[in-house]
Amino acid sequence: MTGAPLPPGAVIGILGGGQLGRMSALAAARLGYACHVYAPDDDSPGMQVAAHRTVAAYEDRDALARFAASVAVVTFEFENVPAAALEALSGLVACRPGLAALATCQDRVAEKAFLGRISVPVAPWRAVETEADLAAAVAALGLPAVLKTTRLGYDGRGQAVLRTPEDLAPAFARLAPKPLVLEAFVPFAAEISAIAARGADGTVAVFDPAENRHAHHILDLSFAPARVPAAVAAAARAHVAAVAEGLDLVGVVALEMFLLPDGTLLGNEIAPRPHNSGHWTMDACAASQFEQHIRAVAGLPLAPATRHHDAVMKNLIGPEGMAAWPRLLAAPGVVPHLYGKAQARAGRKMGHATRLLAPGTLAAAPESDVLAGLL
Ligand code: AMP
Repeated sequence: MTGAPLPPGAVIGILGGGQLGRMSALAAARLGYACHVYAPDDDSPGMQVAAHRTVAAYEDRDALARFAASVAVVTFEFENVPAAALEALSGLVACRPGLAALATCQDRVAEKAFLGRISVPVAPWRAVETEADLAAAVAALGLPAVLKTTRLGYDGRGQAVLRTPEDLAPAFARLAPKPLVLEAFVPFAAEISAIAARGADGTVAVFDPAENRHAHHILDLSFAPARVPAAVAAAARAHVAAVAEGLDLVGVVALEMFLLPDGTLLGNEIAPRPHNSGHWTMDACAASQFEQHIRAVAGLPLAPATRHHDAVMKNLIGPEGMAAWPRLLAAPGVVPHLYGKAQARAGRKMGHATRLLAPGTLAAAPESDVLAGLL
């Protein structure tokens, strides 16, 4: 791919078949592009809306080569795609974001070291390879603390809160793969996230930060804009813009942060892709995070990341989430989305619903009012 924008009709390759790829493919279709989804499962949310499909393992070099030959550019929709697959593709076709950005975000130690280099503060942490390392790390950071795998963790999987010295050995034994990382427990006042898009020309557009609430370690609600002082929102935007630039990323990137009671923000996790906490942009902004992602990957100019409504996004998780679907369809001012997953297993993200509110409502109205009709 040269620096020129992809012409209408070009094919964008997406590694991964989940809902983030699905919503990216739908945004791509509106801009006149077709998507080729590559994933190991044939009935995936992304495959259902793709113009072209490859069902193959990420380790299948021949299938990867055929995929590369059929697309103008490759992106990915989840960061646990094996780096070796992106490495194989990188020699054959433009990959946006590239291998270096993916590798940094696949490893919590590399991620924290990167955040340190770009001056985004993080909670105190120590790398842990052995039980002796863990004992030394706990001696340095104190308890409580959070022990996490450095790779392949998501939605709270691969982590344990250590409260007493007796918690150390079982947590070390259970968590895999090694190595691990120990973080000081952060007594946060709120969790917020910000999403930046960065174009092929280096232009950056940042959405308003969102305030996130989790249930059982899975995102439950996002409120946009986050109900934080203007200086905190500005710092969150600056941090995610620094992440996008520091990674030399083309695409979108989300930065999850902890807000401390004194107003300090600590970076927690980077996702070099559209993010669940940005789904509200589909309905509350003229151009969503998915459209920005496709614009960036295709070499188009970014759209302004402006928000025309306040929004509350509710995730629909498992059977309970699906039970709310008929009610959400009928709720005024609520925009419903389903991902086409056949089975509503516990903990599975089935869809989401976004309640749109007049600008300024979130800051002024009681939370029970803004959640009415959504819960
Ligand atoms: P993560 O997988 O790092 O995004 O963590 C999932 C969730 O666990 C976060 O959204 C927090 O609610 C909680 N958590 C993670 N790390 C910490 C920490 N160091 N201190 C307190 N809570 C944490």
